[in-house]
Amino acid sequence: MLLIEDWSFWSAADCVPSSSNQFDQYNQCFLNDTKLSLERSAYVPRQDIAHRSSKNIQDDRERADTAYVMRLVPRPVGSSIRFLALTFFAPAALVAQTAAPFDVQKLDSGVYAVVRHDPISYVNNANSLVVVGDNSVLVVDAQFTRLATSQTIGAIRQITSKPVRYVVNTHWHDDHVAGNQVYRDSFPAVRFISQANTRADLIALGAPNRRGTWDAAGPFTARFERLLALGLGVDSVPVTPLERATMENTIAVGQQYLAEKPGFRETLPDLTFTRTLSVDLGGRRVEIRYFGPANTRGDAVVIVPDSRIIATGDIVVAPVPFAFNAYVSGWIGALDSIIAQHPVAILPGHGPVMRDDSYPRQVRRMLARVREETRRAVASGADLAETRKRVTLGNERASIAHGDKWLNALFGSFFLDPAIARAFEEATKQPPAR
Ligand SMILES: [Zn+2]
Repeated sequence: MLLIEDWSFWSAADCVPSSSNQFDQYNQCFLNDTKLSLERSAYVPRQDIAHRSSKNIQDDRERADTAYVMRLVPRPVGSSIRFLALTFFAPAALVAQTAAPFDVQKLDSGVYAVVRHDPISYVNNANSLVVVGDNSVLVVDAQFTRLATSQTIGAIRQITSKPVRYVVNTHWHDDHVAGNQVYRDSFPAVRFISQANTRADLIALGAPNRRGTWDAAGPFTARFERLLALGLGVDSVPVTPLERATMENTIAVGQQYLAEKPGFRETLPDLTFTRTLSVDLGGRRVEIRYFGPANTRGDAVVIVPDSRIIATGDIVVAPVPFAFNAYVSGWIGALDSIIAQHPVAILPGHGPVMRDDSYPRQVRRMLARVREETRRAVASGADLAETRKRVTLGNERASIAHGDKWLNALFGSFFLDPAIARAFEEATKQPPAR
């Protein structure tokens, strides 16, 4: 059986899009890839595929065999990742699709975490922090689907009868924003807070990204259904239990997101800040901070000072950080700022509640290594491809993947590859993309 150490979930390496819009490019490449994946083809060793031309791939198709296959060639970072960029994964739940979709954890008096159980996946719903004051409630992040957001609001109703007065959108990705309208419908006086860059990015990037996701969701989830029906994972190798849970979750959440398209109303932040914002809920103060560009260029971090509880958005995501279009040096600084708060509980954007800072420190350590090793490679004249060969973080990969095929692939595709690309941009002084 073919084992693939470093494959891509899909590839646009041979895709030459006609549009200059990056989201259209993604969709074109994605749809091309989907079409290809429907062709019957043979398993082909990666080292062979990596050097294939389009003609070779055509030859494969003509040599049809018994399995569906994805194109296993290196994927260029950026343009083809938009569907992923919408959301992340919640490893708390590497199990059970049949379990409840979330649980509510009381972190302190009046402070609750709504932790999603979505298995690690391409499309997931974000965690929410709920802070209850004497007068009103602040919530950190909506969810990807309105269904999931309604579930969060249902949980809040169980906690308190006070109204939600503020929803903080930690960044522009739809898995933290798309459910905003449910809060508007449920609490008409609610204000939506974001860092100023996030509001701008929601307008410039969020809207086209959402359209691209709607276009892609149908074929994307249909392909997963076909692969699972054949007992295959996304790499056309027999599916593992964790991978199956991921794919099933992707199908369910992706189809729900698509089903909600007709009633979607864009609900943008109406209260922005640049560096800090303090919110009084009545007897309880919440600090909203911007530590500079990190995972995006507008990440908000929410601090409950009297409880020393922090909601990080996707600056912290476990078990695999998400590094697409991130700002490596800024991200390191933001993690330093979070660690310096000495929180007793950290709610990541996705993943379980953390009771110490060991994981944020690990992410910081990995980013620092990527930055330093990339700088050294660049200083010696290495190009990006050569840099990728040199920067492997082998021990860190092992500690996160634990030998699991799926987590190993995520580590490369979600974290290491894009982090190296961004560190390479920094090291070569190329202007960072947003
Ligand atoms: Zn997210």
